Amino acid sequence: MKTIIEPFRIKAVEPIRMTTRKERREKLAAANHNVFTLASDDVLIDLLTDSGTGAMSSEQWAAIMRGDESYAGSPSFERFQAAIRNLMPFDHIIPTHQGRAAEAILFSILGGPGKNFPSNTHFDTTRGNIEAGGARGHDLLIDEGKDPANLHPFKGNMDLEKLENYLQEHGDSVPCVMLTITNNAGGGQPVSLENIHAVAEIAHAHGRPFIIDGCRFAENAWFIKQREKGQQDRSIPDIVRDCFSVADGMTMSAKKDAFANIGGWLALNDPELAELARARLIQTEGFPTYGGLAGRDLDAIAQGLTEIVDEDYLRYRIRTNEYIIERLDSLGIPVVKPAGGHAVFIDAKALLPHIPPLEYPGYSVAAALYEIGGIRCAEIGSVMFGRQPDGSEKPAMMELVRMAIPRRTYTQSHADYIIECFAELAAKKDSLRGYRITWEPKLMRHFTCKFEPLG
Ligand SMILES: *Cc1c(COP(=O)(O)O)cnc(C)c1O
Repeated sequence: MKTIIEPFRIKAVEPIRMTTRKERREKLAAANHNVFTLASDDVLIDLLTDSGTGAMSSEQWAAIMRGDESYAGSPSFERFQAAIRNLMPFDHIIPTHQGRAAEAILFSILGGPGKNFPSNTHFDTTRGNIEAGGARGHDLLIDEGKDPANLHPFKGNMDLEKLENYLQEHGDSVPCVMLTITNNAGGGQPVSLENIHAVAEIAHAHGRPFIIDGCRFAENAWFIKQREKGQQDRSIPDIVRDCFSVADGMTMSAKKDAFANIGGWLALNDPELAELARARLIQTEGFPTYGGLAGRDLDAIAQGLTEIVDEDYLRYRIRTNEYIIERLDSLGIPVVKPAGGHAVFIDAKALLPHIPPLEYPGYSVAAALYEIGGIRCAEIGSVMFGRQPDGSEKPAMMELVRMAIPRRTYTQSHADYIIECFAELAAKKDSLRGYRITWEPKLMRHFTCKFEPLG
């Protein structure tokens, strides 16, 4: 059989409210042309994020009922901890309400002025938490990872030579070495098992702990199985264990590869660090057996972890991205290749060369997609990164549009519909125009700024 079908049947449905093009034009204008401020009811296919927006399984809903809400010593925590340890054999498992809460706790202990944290690429909340404490984060990604058209199989890898030099240069100011798998900010590109082991070895040779930001660990393991020499016959849980066996801890968002709508955790092996982290947890999140979560959330995560490593699911998950990318490619839409784990990225600079970066070509694509088909996606370009701390504005390195794919949520006909919308966009791309920002807040402007179409 050639067709890779969705490996699930639908048991509960959530209707999509259909809208007309005229209605969408009005909604977009009323939202000051910023897709972030649209009501989600006015969106047909929402690809803004894959974070917490996936569908839970019938077994996860059953687990929700099993959830025990005892304040201390809940059996839900025991199941949560056992499910994590089955894949990631860490001594201390600390539940948090999201990934960023785990980061805030970790960097409140390890960070501070004068400290330096290397990674392949820090995710934006990770960088935010590092910098909030006065420390600095640095991205040591391989050069291939920065080129949208490069077909390197592991574009999320850390540059090992840069890491070695970095550790020699910064010495004792480096509290730990981090690695994000898959590399979210770099297009959901994977890190090879070989690279994970090599990073651990270099970190340990310098006496530094190695911490993995593991948000999309299962997708990363799937890419290792598909693309890395000698890994084809191993099971996904086996590869996952191998990845984490060389780490000293991890941060995690359960809204990603744990199939939950909320949750996260910090895991550590060092008992002293773990004790400091738990003290901080009690101050900011809650008691160590629930963190910032309800018992039922812990059970949904425990069950989700058994489902995320299923190969039929991962095959369908990654194939969805490949399928969309192949078809956009044949329509002449420039896309980031090869397919990453959780999203499809459009290169808006290459698609709309007539719109200068500071007239926001990525934004123009996002607005057109909403008007054509009610599809919502995110600009990752000069609207997001253009404003500088000194108040000036400069073009971002790339003008990308991200279509994040929620887990187990849309079907192939949704994918075909997205592709059809792009066919229309491709036909009229020369008529698309740029935008001007008429108002923006001081920080994180992309969420709330107001636009006006040019010309
Ligand atoms: C989502 C994410 C985070 C933050 O997790 P939240 O649950 O959204 O707070 C950190 N790192 C990576 C790589 C992520 O994808």
